[in-house]
Amino acid sequence: MPPKRKEHTSHLGSPAIEDYLEQIHNLIASKGYARVVDIAKNLGISQASVTNMIQKLDAEGFVVYERYRGVILTEEGGKVGAEIARRHEVLTRLLAGFGLDPKTVHEDVEGMEHHISRQTLDVLTLLMEELEDNAVLMGKLKGKLAGLA
Ligand code: ZN
Repeated sequence: MPPKRKEHTSHLGSPAIEDYLEQIHNLIASKGYARVVDIAKNLGISQASVTNMIQKLDAEGFVVYERYRGVILTEEGGKVGAEIARRHEVLTRLLAGFGLDPKTVHEDVEGMEHHISRQTLDVLTLLMEELEDNAVLMGKLKGKLAGLA
């Protein structure tokens, strides 16, 4: 990757790394722990591939992997996982608020969450909050959207 690209990208890691850290963050938030079997299931990837990637993430300082205790996030890994989960939530709420079908929302969010800057996320968060508080405007926009279909 040319050095210049880095100034313009919002990537915290590669999209693949971000997806793993997001999953691990979500599993720990909901279940208290993250096991390879659950990460594999949620990402739709084989356990062998997940184990390889976890070892790589461990070597890069994002997680600590103990075979019988599962995957623990380091401070750095936790920061990235929480940030991607936040992007995921804001983008999902914004799009789902318009009544888009869940499959489209999910696929688009999984792509977009790796490619937006902090400033853009702040803008979208404000929009989402205002729209969630303004049923009249939301209704008007949904009506216009239906007219485009
Ligand atoms: Zn996501």
